[in-house]
Amino acid sequence: MISKSFSLEGKTALVTGAATGLGRGIAAGLAGAGADVVGAVHRKPANETRADVEAAGRRFFEARGDLGDPSSVPKLLTSALDHAPRIDILINNAGIIRRSDFLDFTVADWDAVMDVNLKSLFLLSQAAVKHMVETAPDEADGSAGKVIHIASLLSYQGGIRVPSYTASKHGVQGLTRLMANELAAKRINVNAIAPGYFATDNTQALQDDPIRSRQILERIPAARWGQPEDLQGATVFLASSASDYVHGTTLAVDGGWMAR
Ligand code: NAP
Repeated sequence: MISKSFSLEGKTALVTGAATGLGRGIAAGLAGAGADVVGAVHRKPANETRADVEAAGRRFFEARGDLGDPSSVPKLLTSALDHAPRIDILINNAGIIRRSDFLDFTVADWDAVMDVNLKSLFLLSQAAVKHMVETAPDEADGSAGKVIHIASLLSYQGGIRVPSYTASKHGVQGLTRLMANELAAKRINVNAIAPGYFATDNTQALQDDPIRSRQILERIPAARWGQPEDLQGATVFLASSASDYVHGTTLAVDGGWMAR
């Protein structure tokens, strides 16, 4: 039955950056489809996310770690596995942005963004996929794991004043394809979602700039900024067995931005 294909009953998802913005919306969406959630958090606890997940009748656990320190990544997966016997779904959502003219951009801002957005994403994916392969269910039970990277419109476009962010998000799309090529035969689905302009902390500087904010809105065919809930359908699809034959794609959820 097709509705059953979208169910995440009995699955556990690890969501990075789960305390805020898109991560919170994604966690709530996965719980609504039946998954328990381990929320990876950094500076603040994910109290609102916990409330959303528990309101959906699912269990929520927190695992703390700094993805700006790639050496801490293995410990993050270990603490996630303290709460759940198996991670079935990994959502690499945590990300940061630094804004400055290309000519003034510092190595510190380059490294900080690349470490969180790409290096830790690579390391956490590698560790989680090893675990998924080692604990893979029988072939008759379908997928052995789902990995979803949160990419960006700057996986396709150059952007302006965000060199490390653009490089990292282009890297995320490339890594999505590479991982799919190597892991599809192991029944691991690797895909990405490219959100358009969403009203979160990540885009606060743009929202606060009246000229940029108006220019952005004028270019969005849907004529509104995205809300975290707008990502839930795409995430549940890519996390569920409905997408078992979908590998290596980056799905834009952008109100039509890329069609302009
Ligand atoms: P956000 O609210 O700023 O969320 C970013 C999350 O990443 C926060 O929960 C943050 O936790 C976590 N994080 C940052 N540094 C971390 C670190 N060193 N270790 C562990 N976690 C860390 O912004 P958002 O918009 O929801 O962004 C989520 C993802 O969507 C990012 O990858 C972003 O690039 C992507 N995205 C956003 C948009 C948009 O329009 N909003 C568009 C395209 C792509 P702390 O606050 O505790 O550090």
